[in-house]
Amino acid sequence: MDPIITKRNELLAQKVIKGLASRNMTGYYAATKEEALQIALGLIDEGNSVTMGGAMSAHEIGLVDAVKEGPYNFIDRDAWEDKRAAMLAAYDADVFLASVNAMTDDGVLVNIDGNANRVSAIAQGPKKVIFIVGMNKVCGSDVDSAIKRARNVAAPTNAQRFGLSTPCTKTGACANCKSPDTICCQFLITRYSRHAGRIHVILVNDNLGF
Ligand code: SF4
Repeated sequence: MDPIITKRNELLAQKVIKGLASRNMTGYYAATKEEALQIALGLIDEGNSVTMGGAMSAHEIGLVDAVKEGPYNFIDRDAWEDKRAAMLAAYDADVFLASVNAMTDDGVLVNIDGNANRVSAIAQGPKKVIFIVGMNKVCGSDVDSAIKRARNVAAPTNAQRFGLSTPCTKTGACANCKSPDTICCQFLITRYSRHAGRIHVILVNDNLGF
């Protein structure tokens, strides 16, 4: 990462971490993907059941492979035939790995979901939620700027990734659609965690995910 950008990210991350603390959530700053991986693994106990909600960022820092290969019980939704059973097992997991679609620089997390398995597990269920967040996802202090990023950058890109039949996969821009394939069904804004020690946000000095 360019040293000038790194300096900016280090400074901005301190503001984000302070904002997270004011919301009963814990923030961390990782200068590299490798450092982010070590911080994340330090938050997972041996024998923990671990699952995830389509978090590209967790893949990009090597966390998913490390969990699969490590002394944990990885709940792999894709490997389960009974998808409902897999979803319920994920809801009861010790640890849920995720990223955000966007967040404010004072610690509000914004996520959009189609099936809602991801946003529901973030809101309730798993005992601990670990977010891996590239600094590219940090917006201004107003929630509207984070929602705009989630709707205009993250959602159209994710729709493209899944090859969906939506207006945004044809134009690259959100058309506020109600098509059957839309992934913009449920919006979750996490502004405070009732449960201390449940939500951990690892800010990474890198561009991760969409
Ligand atoms: S609302 Fe529709 S067009 Fe807009 S990002 Fe979501 S899926 Fe794409």
